[in-house]
Amino acid sequence: MKTKVGLLYGGKSAEHKVSMQTAMAVIKALDLDKFEIHPIYISEEGQWVKGPQLQGPVSSVKELEFSQGEALPPTALAPTLFQDSQQKGPFDVIFPLLHGPNGEDGTVQGLLELLNLPYVGNGVLASSAGMDKVIMKNIFAQADLPQVKYVWFIRSEWENETAAAYDKVEKELGYPCFVKPANLGSSVGISKCMNRSELEEAFKEAFQFDRKIIIEEGVTAREIEAGVLGNDYPECSVAGEIVPKLEFYDYKAKYEDGDTALIIPAEISEKEYSELKDMAIKAFKALDCSGLVRADFFLTREGKLYINEVNTMPGFTPFSMFPLLWKHTGVEYPQLIEKLVNLAIERHAEKQ
Ligand code: ADP
Ligand code: MG
Ligand code: MG
Repeated sequence: MKTKVGLLYGGKSAEHKVSMQTAMAVIKALDLDKFEIHPIYISEEGQWVKGPQLQGPVSSVKELEFSQGEALPPTALAPTLFQDSQQKGPFDVIFPLLHGPNGEDGTVQGLLELLNLPYVGNGVLASSAGMDKVIMKNIFAQADLPQVKYVWFIRSEWENETAAAYDKVEKELGYPCFVKPANLGSSVGISKCMNRSELEEAFKEAFQFDRKIIIEEGVTAREIEAGVLGNDYPECSVAGEIVPKLEFYDYKAKYEDGDTALIIPAEISEKEYSELKDMAIKAFKALDCSGLVRADFFLTREGKLYINEVNTMPGFTPFSMFPLLWKHTGVEYPQLIEKLVNLAIERHAEKQ
């Protein structure tokens, strides 16, 4: 019996295109003798597309037409999934290959919980806490995980006391600092600031994407990442280093400019790796993660390690950091996908 995988991709998010590329790669990698793939496309407007794709499995990538089909809101599609899940199909597991808000943030995970369908990756709590950088950092602080200093504001605070907000940043963090929308990924809306006027611009920019922003002390550091895989017994991959060619690892460097160097395994000492591994697992548990996360760190010249963030649905093409880290740890891409599917089914079975 083939495992029926509902592959959710696209999504109402700035990371829509990234998700489409990833969906292609996953379909190419899955062993079609073992898996039956049912792609479900979510448009940038948030409409779920029910088309020929949903009626039958795809047997080749060519059959996948990204935007064809009848557009329906998720509420219209949900009863179909629900009805079927009461009987025996159409899906054994859902793979939400969605990044950013409305996908990686717990919303889709909540829908899948209600539908009682097993799904790959993090649950509602970890997904939503991981999407909000302020909440994530507060949880890390509570778990005594070292991180850079930060402050945060909601838009109304900034609108009512604009100068006081900038003063607070200068007093508590100084320059350089990084201004980020609280809920986003892929470096969208992030600016590095060296002075007051850049700070003012950066606030305006970040508030275009979110009603809440976070500002962090800027550090000069290497960027080291590790993958964590598992449910209640999470394991950590080897570490990798990102060497951005540009000023910082921005959206363009991540997705358009393929030549950002990834060094795997990262050249760090055993002691540094051991500390990083402990921190990655601690972060995974603190946020109550399951399935996978990519934990991102800053390593300063003095050897101080800070956790930057975890990504609950990290970039997942075969050339993305997370799959490459596991490849170097001994888990090839198709095997990694299978492991994730199995972890999803296992977690769901434990809940029943
Ligand atoms: P995203 O969730 O969008 O990936 P990050 O917080 O990881 O956002 O920031 C994107 C990039 O910006 C990082 O990979 C790093 O290059 C740079 N950056 C972010 N915060 C800092 C910081 N506090 N100090 C130095 N560089 C930073
Ligand atoms: Mg992120
Ligand atoms: Mg990041």
